[in-house]
Amino acid sequence: AEQADNAEQRQLRVYLRVRPFSKGELANDENQGCIVLENAEVAVLRAPKESSSMKSSEKGVGQSIHKFSFSQIFGPDTTQTDFFKGTVRELVYNYLDGGNALVFTYGVTNAGKTHTIQGKSSENDGGILPRSLDVIFNHVKGRQYQHMDFKPHLSSDVQYLDSNQVKQEKSAKAAVFAMLKEVMEADSSLSGGEPFQFAVWVSFCEIYNEYVYDLMEPLPTSRNHKRNALRVCEDHSGNSYVRDLKWINIFNTEEACKILKIGNKNRSAACTRMNQTSSRSHGIFSVKLLRIDGKQVQKISELSLCDLAGSERCNKTKTFGERLKEAGNINNSLLILGKCIAALRQNQNPKVKNNYVPFRESKLTRLFQSIFCGKGRACMIVNINQCASTFDETLHVMKFSAVAKQV
Ligand code: ADP
Ligand code: MG
Repeated sequence: AEQADNAEQRQLRVYLRVRPFSKGELANDENQGCIVLENAEVAVLRAPKESSSMKSSEKGVGQSIHKFSFSQIFGPDTTQTDFFKGTVRELVYNYLDGGNALVFTYGVTNAGKTHTIQGKSSENDGGILPRSLDVIFNHVKGRQYQHMDFKPHLSSDVQYLDSNQVKQEKSAKAAVFAMLKEVMEADSSLSGGEPFQFAVWVSFCEIYNEYVYDLMEPLPTSRNHKRNALRVCEDHSGNSYVRDLKWINIFNTEEACKILKIGNKNRSAACTRMNQTSSRSHGIFSVKLLRIDGKQVQKISELSLCDLAGSERCNKTKTFGERLKEAGNINNSLLILGKCIAALRQNQNPKVKNNYVPFRESKLTRLFQSIFCGKGRACMIVNINQCASTFDETLHVMKFSAVAKQV
């Protein structure tokens, strides 16, 4: 029975979140009844008149009604609090025990992905990111490694983080060692106190067109300078990481929110310059928790929250040049992600031989290969809106969620 429990726990859970109508959408009758939640696990999609799914079903190709099942469905009335409690909180508890965790939000633009991850902390309506950090900081309260030398300058007018204050990943660990040594020499009472201390480090990057960019890196002031694309590398133990990505030591959720704000600003500035919208890139916010036992870093666990690019397919006839390449890259990385998730699911079934997981085929999946190889837990959040106008894309999203099995 215990084994079954473990298997159930390891299983990749896929949640559906349906966002509420906006005022304008509510006024459109077409929208009514496109999505019906049959129960807490099953959603029914009914093709509206003008959708191409309706047209093809009239020609006898495919159905006009589709049912999909999920680990759990969260309807339009779900609060941020309840959503977090029902989904990611458990992964965060596991993370505090030393496990790695990865969360994806998947769906078309305007379906509620960013709302789900970031939300509006200022309006007490924060998403899973600030809520996860609250849980983390609550856990490490009073046990944080207190040396401010690590802390980047975070006043609101500093967009450009000082590189002396923003330590990079590799040096971070060494720096913690050095600091500890210093502290222990100065104050031997440390070892007699709490058994562990913790340090929390965060990074925020985006993957656009198969290039990784540090969102803590300000945009080059000259338009002629390209943004600095970072390389994905592997360490001795085969874990992938982004070389030169900045990691920032933080002490509370507010600091994380400031970093989020700075990163969002840099992200949208880069998009504006390229005439793009940020919905075409994957945003990845990662939180590393260092457990320090007085002498050394005993364990590092990582939680990554990934706001995926909008999953809408592009109309190839109207798309050319850079745009086509961009659309191809997005669709490809989402496709590879789907394959990795499907393989991961199958590999979790002890009766199935280990499937090849094609994580090398995109930056996104390369970054999270250790998770796909079973060294951590992942969950996927599928975000949808209920609009008739995007019905065909929404149907595609549901079908694509390889894991959301059609019933
Ligand atoms: P995406 O990131 O998928 O493009 P957004 O998160 O920006 O979508 O959401 C689109 C709009 O819908 C935003 O104005 C957002 O505030 C609103 N929204 C999304 N989800 C919810 C929700 N659960 N409750 C209320 N408003 C929401
Ligand atoms: Mg968004």
